[in-house]
Amino acid sequence: MLSSVLIANRGEIACRIIRTARRLRIRTVSVYSDADRDALHVRQADDAVHIGGSQVRESYLRGDRIIEAALSSGAEAIHPGYGFLSENAEFAEQVVDAGLIWIGPRPESIRAMGLKDAAKARMIAANVPVTPGYLGAVQDATRLRFEAEAIGFPVLIKAVAGGGGKGMRRVDDPGSFDELLDSCKREARSSFGDDRVLIEKYILSPRHIEVQVFGDSHGNVVHLFERDCSLQRRHQKVIEEAPAPGMDEATRAAVCAAAVKAAEAVAYVGAGTIEFIADASEGLRADRIWFMEMNTRLQVEHPVTEAITGQDLVEWQLRVASGEPLPLRQDELAISGWAMEGRLYAENPSNGFLPSIGKLEHLELPEGVRVDTGVVQGAEVTPFYDPMIAKLIAWAPSRAEAAAKLAAAAASSRVWPVRTNAAFLRAAALHGEFVDGRIDTGFIERHLTELVPDIDPPMKVLQAAAAAILPSGRAGAWGGMSGFRMNSATETRVQVEFSGSTYLVEPRPSADVHIEDSLAFDGGQAWHFTPPRSDSFVQGAGVSDGALLSPMPGRVIGVLVASGEVVAKGQRLIVLEAMKMEQTLTAPFDGTVGELRAVEGMQVVEGALLAQIREKE
Ligand code: ADP
Ligand code: ADP
Ligand code: MG
Repeated sequence: MLSSVLIANRGEIACRIIRTARRLRIRTVSVYSDADRDALHVRQADDAVHIGGSQVRESYLRGDRIIEAALSSGAEAIHPGYGFLSENAEFAEQVVDAGLIWIGPRPESIRAMGLKDAAKARMIAANVPVTPGYLGAVQDATRLRFEAEAIGFPVLIKAVAGGGGKGMRRVDDPGSFDELLDSCKREARSSFGDDRVLIEKYILSPRHIEVQVFGDSHGNVVHLFERDCSLQRRHQKVIEEAPAPGMDEATRAAVCAAAVKAAEAVAYVGAGTIEFIADASEGLRADRIWFMEMNTRLQVEHPVTEAITGQDLVEWQLRVASGEPLPLRQDELAISGWAMEGRLYAENPSNGFLPSIGKLEHLELPEGVRVDTGVVQGAEVTPFYDPMIAKLIAWAPSRAEAAAKLAAAAASSRVWPVRTNAAFLRAAALHGEFVDGRIDTGFIERHLTELVPDIDPPMKVLQAAAAAILPSGRAGAWGGMSGFRMNSATETRVQVEFSGSTYLVEPRPSADVHIEDSLAFDGGQAWHFTPPRSDSFVQGAGVSDGALLSPMPGRVIGVLVASGEVVAKGQRLIVLEAMKMEQTLTAPFDGTVGELRAVEGMQVVEGALLAQIREKE
């Protein structure tokens, strides 16, 4: 077994590799950029070497500096993780030429599988079923359009050098072909420096099924079963699971055998993944699953395979790179239970999934599931790197239990002020069709409005916050709350302010809502709240009757009074438009308009304070 390893990566995967290396008593060396000086992967390693600026091309893509760091720190081997240089055959070669061990497949294998067209041609030769399409060298638009028509629409144009869901365009009719081809080529040129494309039949009801394979330097290749990564947004995986729902034994045997054949065709050594696309319009069938591409590295979603097989794939990588044979034979591997991984991203689903950067002032990750992360509370999510905060990996005996566990884990992820997709992950894991295993790659797009959470705090959050901010004297009177019964006649309401909106609500603690300092967490979402500025925020029934609250979410379309104006009982004060209906709020008694919060055009949530009417003395 090798005795030291340099990890040419950062974040979650660097920490993941360090964890196994530690257990095997292998010395670890991290590399880091300016932005990562204090990063977790730097602190966890035995040694760390600074390799350059924050931009990836100044550091994590600087193969020369990484090799230098390995040599100067006395590391024996380089583990590339995923992304960055992991599928770069030239770098793999330079590592070997420098006398170091490359923890990955031979450069020839990376090369053979690196371009999608060459890989598919190779698979056709090896008798592996591939997605029907055009792989030719002739690349002019006329020829490509002709080929697309021959294949039959819809088709998918793919950059041969593509990856990470980039450089792909679905084309539904000949009329839009040229334009989409142009934009695909443009993206391919700028992202991969290569604008060649291939054309594939676009598979309808598509499911992404992939098989984990492993080879050693003694000519053995095994598979570790399949994963289903159909839950994608814009061709990027969001939730992955193993095994695949609805996969029967015969189909599994066929697709896993095809994957082993594919790996053997390139004399594969180390961890790899064969990705297939399945036409699942009538369930998973062996004759409707086609090779899509091979990823010649460890995959982001490898933990679900580890969870169902009980194996540590990084340990397998380290053993194979040390020249040992595979730890287990095919007949010693079996599936146990079900595993699901949710990728927790620093992004805002309610704002078009834009990355959310900044300091992780509050970071609590769930317990009871495996959590792979590269950050701790206080760390910074920067614009330089992938915005993944953590992977939540739930295992359970059955699929339904694993989904419930993943949903619960997402719900108890507490992050602030950086926004995350936790509530979105939770909603997906709880969705009826997902729980039934009725998934395909269009699932998220189809259900987007149901999955994207409302940003406004729900009533139970408002009430729990109100209960939390009762002044200590009053809190005593409300103590325990258990025997407490709301008496509508003497109902007490508390003003709470959530991002600029004031709500007047009954205080009521909730078992779901977690309150910490001035933060309310519920279902994977977080809200900051403040008590109102005045100290008269606990209001008895008489006063609260004068509070004009929005009866439902809507928009203010008319403000008919001004602050300080004298009003008569029944006078029309504010007009709201809600659910396409107009609703007028009137003065409950004779008095004057105190605070006036309503402004024309303002969107309001249910319970929002619009105006306060002071009763005539
Ligand atoms: P995979 O096919 O392994 O699931 P992804 O779809 O997650 O890969 O991402 C596409 C590419 O982006 C991968 O090559 C991966 O290496 C890279 N990537 C994704 N997340 C990260 C991360 N947290 N750090 C570095 N690279 C990442
Ligand atoms: P990348 O290298 O970016 O991962 P892939 O070829 O693996 O590119 O495709 C990424 C995703 O695009 C797949 O997981 C799938 O959702 C979708 N996809 C790819 N090929 C097809 C196809 N022929 N028909 C339908 N969907 C496809
Ligand atoms: Mg892929």
